[in-house]
Amino acid sequence: MPQHVLSGKDAPQPMVGRKYPKDWTRRRSLVFTAFKIPAMAPDLSSNRAVKMLNAAAEGKYGVLGVVSYNLETIVACIRAAEAKSSPLQILLFPWALKYSPLLVDLAAHAARSAKVPITVHMDHAQEAEIIKQASQIVAEDGTPAFDSIMVDMSHYEKEENLSKTKELVALCHQRGIATEAEPGRIEGGEDGVQDTAELEGMMTTAEEVDEFVATGIDFLAPAFGNMHGDYHGVHNIRLDYDRLQAVQNKARGRVQLVLHGTNEFPPDIMKKCIDRGVTRVNVNKVVLSEYNAYVAENTHKVPLTQLMETGTKLIQEACERWMDNIGSSGKA
Ligand SMILES: [Zn+2]
Repeated sequence: MPQHVLSGKDAPQPMVGRKYPKDWTRRRSLVFTAFKIPAMAPDLSSNRAVKMLNAAAEGKYGVLGVVSYNLETIVACIRAAEAKSSPLQILLFPWALKYSPLLVDLAAHAARSAKVPITVHMDHAQEAEIIKQASQIVAEDGTPAFDSIMVDMSHYEKEENLSKTKELVALCHQRGIATEAEPGRIEGGEDGVQDTAELEGMMTTAEEVDEFVATGIDFLAPAFGNMHGDYHGVHNIRLDYDRLQAVQNKARGRVQLVLHGTNEFPPDIMKKCIDRGVTRVNVNKVVLSEYNAYVAENTHKVPLTQLMETGTKLIQEACERWMDNIGSSGKA
């Protein structure tokens, strides 16, 4: 049976009133620090998400990161990936934990029972507590349910962002979980993510790449004109490709780039980003809009079973089209 969180004696002990957690790894690193011998960085080379995006970078193709809110989307992801023999990442927001941990169990089980490589990623985890909670969730095979977690501290000022990111990256790495961060700020909000529209949009600089790589992250989500939510027309999508290329020149061989804010992106724009080093492309509306329209149109008009089946099929078809577009078909 899948376990939602570690329980009993394995549960993390509260830090209040005690200087250090009763945790050997942490104590060992403190010992190393005392003698000025750096603790070995955890080896994430066998992490499934790291391996998947390294392969995408090597093969110069993109991998879909599908924002998943429900059963239909997760089923569609698995079917599309298996039909196209493509890798894929299922993306859940912290909302999933609040709604029901069963959604995490479902995604983790689906990923592990698929015939092709599929990972589960938590996107935009904006609170330390959520990251700690998510990192403790264990799948049925005893491994962490999340292969990767986005440590999104972009709502803090730079120094605090960097120090919090470093601390939380170390926490995830101790459990073998890969991490992602967002230097600069990707404007806008998305269903399930805190709206940052009131915060001034800031583009990622080459200098910030170094600062964030130093926190230990594995994946980097650059801000180069991309934004969350809607662009209200393809003509409003204005990306700074030179900046993306500069970021990639800095990041190459150290972290993989991931793309946020792809609503309304046509295939040629997606391809230009992949040509400049993007590996995972987060997709929301480009794979869900037909499904959303179908559900809006047909709720109460067709049986729920048909609503689910046809809805799943629409998401699957959209995912398959995008797998062809971004070159991941046949790469599993
Ligand atoms: Zn995002």
